[in-house]
Amino acid sequence: MYKVIENIDFLRPYHQLVCDILKALRRSSRQNVTYTKLTLKNNLISINPLFSSIVNRGAFLDNIHKLKDSQVDIYKEYGSSVRRYKSILNRKWNGRSKLNHTSSKEIKNVFIFFYENLVEYKTLNEAFFQNVNSLSNFRAIMSLNKVCPYCDINKINKDSVSVDHYLPKSTFPILSIYPDNLIVSCKACNESIKGENYLLPIIHPYYEDVSSYFTFVINDSNEEKFEIEIKMNKDNSKLLSEKVQNFLSLFKIKERYEIDMIGDLKDFRQDIRKRAYAELRGIARNRNITDVDIRECTENSYKEAIIQNELLHRAVDGTKIKNDYINQILQRGDFQSDIDYLESQFGGIGNLFN
Ligand SMILES: [Zn+2]
Repeated sequence: MYKVIENIDFLRPYHQLVCDILKALRRSSRQNVTYTKLTLKNNLISINPLFSSIVNRGAFLDNIHKLKDSQVDIYKEYGSSVRRYKSILNRKWNGRSKLNHTSSKEIKNVFIFFYENLVEYKTLNEAFFQNVNSLSNFRAIMSLNKVCPYCDINKINKDSVSVDHYLPKSTFPILSIYPDNLIVSCKACNESIKGENYLLPIIHPYYEDVSSYFTFVINDSNEEKFEIEIKMNKDNSKLLSEKVQNFLSLFKIKERYEIDMIGDLKDFRQDIRKRAYAELRGIARNRNITDVDIRECTENSYKEAIIQNELLHRAVDGTKIKNDYINQILQRGDFQSDIDYLESQFGGIGNLFN
């Protein structure tokens, strides 16, 4: 639940690769509508000589040659989808306007071939990226000591995460290997957007920081059962709130947080209280502590925790909800339950008074 700031420009050649393939298809069909594989092969190499490294892989040529009967200009369609990617996310453009059902199916198969097979070709990666596997590099960069950019709950591990699509490839096949549509996430989030599961309009972690547009409000009046509410920022536009809401619904954030995060929040608050207590003990070695000391130490421990938490953002789970919770406690300004807690856990604050 943060903005991904890693540079993924090294995946850009995928975009160029698709453009070149589609350009070769277009050029071939202009030469002859029933063009052969040989024509296609020659056009590919003349558009980009790097294709000579993969053009003899049978599956590659066979697959893209299947697009020759497509009724639509896929090069143009691809260009529109990429240029209007943000419009699709904002539900201003549906991204499939001109693809009829039959051609859409062919396009889908070929683009899924690109994603599932082509990008794994060692020779392709060496030729286009000077690297044997750019997707595994992508996984490694995106999972370096970080939690999942969608949920902020689970750590992502480069060996167990998959590169997946933000807008699903089953509905938006043409964006199958468009770099901005490729993202790394934890398994649970990946499951949430499997198949044809998506919601529009939606916020995208490459463009915006979803966590800055809403606040978690924690109702902790019942110690046994905390409840979480999500409050949109008042100055969000209607569209922005809808995008954020859809993101939170798609990844089932509220439900998952109520299961996975409540225990963490309680532990987190206990740690803060323990730090406050340690500080009070330090003061008590030199002089009598006062009620003001208790209040100040508790309040300062909360404030320090916020700063620490901000430093750990993206590396540790739940920093957003923890900070929203602390801010809520600080705003309430009532630390009686913390003082009560210290009393019960450490045999009483009172014994620190001389
Ligand atoms: Zn996740």
